[in-house]
This record gives sequence, C-alpha cells and structure tokens, in this order.
Amino acid sequence: MHSLTKTALSFNGIGRRCVALNRFSETRIICRGLTCTAEHREHENELYDVIISGGGMVGTAMACSLGLDPNLEGKKILLLEAGNKKVMDKVPDAYSTRVSSISPGSATLLSGVGAWDHIMNMRCKPYQKMQVWDACSDALITFDKENLQDEMAYIVENNIIVAALMKQLENLSDQVRVQYKSKVVKYTWPKSHQVADAIPWVQVTLANGQTLQTKLLIGADGPNSMVRREAGIPTVKWNYDQSAVVAVLHLSEPTENNVAWQRFLPTGPIAMLPLSDTESSLVWSTSHRHAEELLQLDEESFVDSINTAFWSNENHSELVETAGSLFRTALSVLMPSAGSARQLPPSVAGIGPKSRVMFPLGMGHASEYIRHRVALIGDAAHRVHPLAGQGANLGFGDVACLTQLLSQAAFNGKDLGAMQHLLEYETERQRHNLPMMAAIDLMKRLYSTNAAPMVVLRTFGLQATNTLPAMKAQIMAFASK
Ligand SMILES: Cc1cc2nc3c(=O)[nH]c(=O)nc-3n(C[C@H](O)[C@H](O)[C@H](O)COP(=O)(O)OP(=O)(O)OC[C@H]3O[C@@H](n4cnc5c(N)ncnc54)[C@H](O)[C@@H]3O)c2cc1C
Repeated sequence: MHSLTKTALSFNGIGRRCVALNRFSETRIICRGLTCTAEHREHENELYDVIISGGGMVGTAMACSLGLDPNLEGKKILLLEAGNKKVMDKVPDAYSTRVSSISPGSATLLSGVGAWDHIMNMRCKPYQKMQVWDACSDALITFDKENLQDEMAYIVENNIIVAALMKQLENLSDQVRVQYKSKVVKYTWPKSHQVADAIPWVQVTLANGQTLQTKLLIGADGPNSMVRREAGIPTVKWNYDQSAVVAVLHLSEPTENNVAWQRFLPTGPIAMLPLSDTESSLVWSTSHRHAEELLQLDEESFVDSINTAFWSNENHSELVETAGSLFRTALSVLMPSAGSARQLPPSVAGIGPKSRVMFPLGMGHASEYIRHRVALIGDAAHRVHPLAGQGANLGFGDVACLTQLLSQAAFNGKDLGAMQHLLEYETERQRHNLPMMAAIDLMKRLYSTNAAPMVVLRTFGLQATNTLPAMKAQIMAFASK
C-alpha cells in the first residue's frame, strides 16, 4: 500500500501551520482544512508588483494590458479569480444570455491587447444604427452610421470576451500568472507610518490559506467589491427596485438585423440587441415583481409580452400626442431635413432554451478609486443601469487609463503603488465616469414616469435632440469612448 507521510511545515515568517501530504507521488498541502496545490505553496508569501483581484471582463483585460506593456516587462503580475477557469475550445451553438454592447473605444482596447481578432473569429455582431423611443409618445431619437465613420458598436457575449482575453493571457504566461479558484478572503493594508514589523505591501489571503503580497492591488472584483469594502472606501449607491430580464430571442423571419432597439416603457426600458440575422438579445428592465412574473410565463405568453412592449401604443395619451405633434411640426419648419421616421423592431417568434434569467439593478460609485497601493477598476468602482450599455465600456476605459499611467510610472522608475500616478488615474476616470453615470441615472428617472407634464417635457427634448445632428454626434462620440 502507498504510504501517507505527514510533515508539519511552517511558512516563512508568518508561522501558519500547514500539513504536507505525500501520496501517490503527488504533493499537496492542506492549509486551514482546504487544499492548496504544490504550485500555490511555491508562491506562498511571494511579493508581486501587481495583483489583480477578480478575473471578470475588466480584470482579465487589465491583466492582458499590463502583461503586454513593454515598460512593465519583468514585473511580476498575478490575476486572482474566485471562479473556475472557463475553457471554450469551441463556440457553443446557442448564444449566451449575457451580452454587452461594446463601444468602438473598447474594441480598440481589446484590439490593442490582441483579443479582438479572437472575438471576431469566435462570434460578434456589429450594428450600424440605434433607435430609442418613448412608449408614452411618438418621440424618438436615432443614431446611425451617417453620424459615424464606422460601426456604431458590437454585441458580444460576455463569455466570449473573457475567453478571448484568456487566450491572450495564455500567450503571456511569462509575464502574467493566473490563479483560478482563488477567492480572496482577507486584505491586510500597509501602515501609512513606520511601525516595527509592519509589512510595507498589501497582503492578500486566499480561502485556501495562501498568503501573497503586492506593491499594487487592483480591485476588479465587481459591484460587491471586497477590496473596496475592506479598504473602507465610501460608496454612494442605491438600488433601482428594478431587475433586468435577459433572454435570447428568435426572430419571426431573417432580417439584416443591424439595429439596436430600445423603448422606454413607464416600468423601465426594453432593449433588443442584434446577435445574428435570426436572433437578438433581450434586456428588459422592469419592477422586480414584473420581472418575476415574466420568468414564470410560458414561452408563448412571454413572447407576446415582448412584442406588445415594443409595438403597443397603450401608454399614449391625446394631450401628449397633440403637444408632440405641434412641436414636431414647428421643428420641421425650422429644420426641414432633420429628424427621422419611426421604425418598428422585428417581431419575436420564440426564445432560446433555458435562456430567461433576471438580475437586480442598481447604481454605485466609489467616492475614491484609489488608496495607497490600491486602485479600483470596473464595477468595483462604478456600477450603472444597463439602459445605456456602458458598464463594461467604462471598465475598459479604466483599464486603458491605468495601464498608461502605470507604464509611465515604470518607465520613470517609480513605485507602482505610489499615490502620485494613482491620483492621476482617479482624476481622469472620475472626470469621464461621473458625467456618464449622472446622464444614465437622469435618463432612468426621466423615463420612469407616465405623468403628462414630464412626458411632454421629455418628448420635446428627444424630438429636438433628434433634429440636431451635431449634438447627436457629440452624444455618440462620448458614448463611443
Ligand atoms: C443586464 C445587464 C446588461 C448589461 N449590458 C451591458 C452592455 O451592453 N454594455 C456594457 O458595457 N455593460 C453592460 N452591462 C454591465 C457589465 O456587465 C458590467 O459592467 C461588467 O460585467 C463588469 O465587469 P467587471 O469585470 O468589473 O465585474 P464582474 O463581471 O462582476 O467580475 C468580477 C469578478 O471578480 C471575481 N471576484 C469577486 N470577488 C472575488 C474575490 N474575493 N476573490 C477573487 N475573485 C473575486 C468574480 O468571480 C468575477 O469573476 C450590463 C449589465 C447587466 C446586469
């Protein structure tokens, strides 16, 4: 029989007791009752230049971006992800329910880290036009290619973005180490003043007992960020009392399907985003109760509800229609060639198998994105309503900005965790993110009512904006970053 040898080990300096088991020539270490691989033991208490906590879309993009930067060559970078490695050898036939509208600015970032080619080879749907309209009036706004040089944006499944970035990380294994199933359970912060025996770095403790150290910790651990919480960073946040129901939709007939549609219902916006000639993705934000009801409906009733939500005029009122029509006439006299006719989205015939899921929605903003040796990126720093399709895009913007500043700091021989360049990151990103977040929140509130004065006001606003190509171009340019 094989023998089981137990050896008590004490890891350097931290005095934690671990037991090594040598069994069937495989060495494992049991730390605090959980299994730690030999590889993990090898890295115990290791000092990294950068540790990224959270391997979602934003954290993985950050790891790629830092790993590729020539000024950061030789730096030790580690990406920690609580979940399993998501292997995607082959793109599944069925579309995933979680998709993102990726702006040209994010596509440039993803292209810069070499992931965009993988995305294009896997699956991605560009669109050229967007129509946003009000369910309580005839007001609408369209954005189309005439206002833009290139594609307006791209619909990409979230797991394809992560898989493409992972593929790139595999090529960067000399620069970036990735550890899956590595949930961080504790952060110990460096003391700001000299204390005997104090560690000058951020110490990261994993659920398996492993301890690591880093000169800079990047928190990319999502809207409930533990990095943000443990660092004591104040956050402004509220729930919208809304959930988003997402699903894959089968269209009644094949179409060019190059338009993103969004209609503001009094209960919340409903969006249909193109996936292919015959399929689209649904993001329907509504009250929690209505969302739950939608999930319970049989497929036929659910499909009927979607078509009604896009097509029905039951929320129109005579007063608003008269006011809107007078205003439209006045605008057409002033600007005869401006404006655009309302089109209706394709009708839906069915949904993908098991594709209906709901997510609670909220807004959150960390009042500080940085602390000494700490930076927050992505949803850890800011969470927005999906109505503008901007959450991940804001996160990719953080990645581009932080990479550039860290690269510069490394080039100048600076400590990566120092406040100087981290402050620059915070200022630059808050300047971009805050106006975007305020605009999204305002839109959400403006459209959450069917009170006539408010409907008339927003109808005038939307109609007027739709006749101003320069203003539309500015809106699109801001949203494209
Ligand atoms: C319905 C809906 C539609 C949306 N549509 C769009 C859109 O069209 N366009 C767009 O740009 N955005 C969109 N968003 C927003 C977008 O999904 C998010 O902004 C984005 O996923 C945030 O990515 P992230 O990597 O910052 O965070 P997350 O995706 O939350 O990733 C965080 C990662 O950290 C890991 N983690 C957490 N805690 C720990 C820990 N203690 N230790 C180790 N790892 C940890 C998690 O496992 C996870 O992998 C939408 C959101 C919703 C809800």
